[in-house]
Amino acid sequence: MVNIAANLTHIHTQIIEAKNNFASKGQRVELIAVSKTRTVAEIEQAIAAGQRHFGENYLQEALSKITQLAHQQDLVWHFIGPIQSNKTREIAGNFDWVHSVDRLKIAERLSQQRPVNLSPLNICIQINIDNEPTKSGVTLGNLLSLAVEINRLPRLHLRGLMAIPRPQRELTLQRQCFRRVRSALESLQRAGLLELDTLSMGMSDDFVAAIAEGATFIRLGTAIFGERV
Ligand SMILES: *Cc1c(COP(=O)(O)O)cnc(C)c1O
Repeated sequence: MVNIAANLTHIHTQIIEAKNNFASKGQRVELIAVSKTRTVAEIEQAIAAGQRHFGENYLQEALSKITQLAHQQDLVWHFIGPIQSNKTREIAGNFDWVHSVDRLKIAERLSQQRPVNLSPLNICIQINIDNEPTKSGVTLGNLLSLAVEINRLPRLHLRGLMAIPRPQRELTLQRQCFRRVRSALESLQRAGLLELDTLSMGMSDDFVAAIAEGATFIRLGTAIFGERV
């Protein structure tokens, strides 16, 4: 049986080691538990072990869990899956962060539909860092203009970038790719988007490399909850 609390403890040790070995000690690295396909009971085990940030990919599944866990006051919900335009209203109303914005039209809808009683919705632009034709995400060539336009939207708070690199086994190759994501963020900062402070990158198989290259959110599913069935 999977021991979620023990897995979380182990991951936190690995995060501290990665920060000590590679990154500046002051780097803020927040762990998002990717809970797609997991039950409320599994999420509750993670909560009991101190986990607060959760990432979901599928809206209907996520809404059901958010409702069932509404009594847990301090949870932070991250939407990390592909976004269809007919889903933006419920995403804008139920999540704290959206990591998978790659089109202006989606961003405009999220901004229009963010409820006035909530603070602006935190946004990461998803970039297609390996230029894979089947993957979502904006290309590096189109990133700056999209970021400038999203940054103007009143009910959104553009925070940074998200990427899902092509799987690589070697740490060096993993790091090369994450370094390109970080460079993309730095180029936006140099272009005047000074407030951007977020790099959402790193999953169960490559999060150490992502931390080494400055990740501020890592998104882990399998390492916490076991293999998805
Ligand atoms: C599923 C998923 C993850 C987690 O992947 P693991 O390999 O299980 O850690 C992270 N990010 C996104 C966008 C995902 O869809």
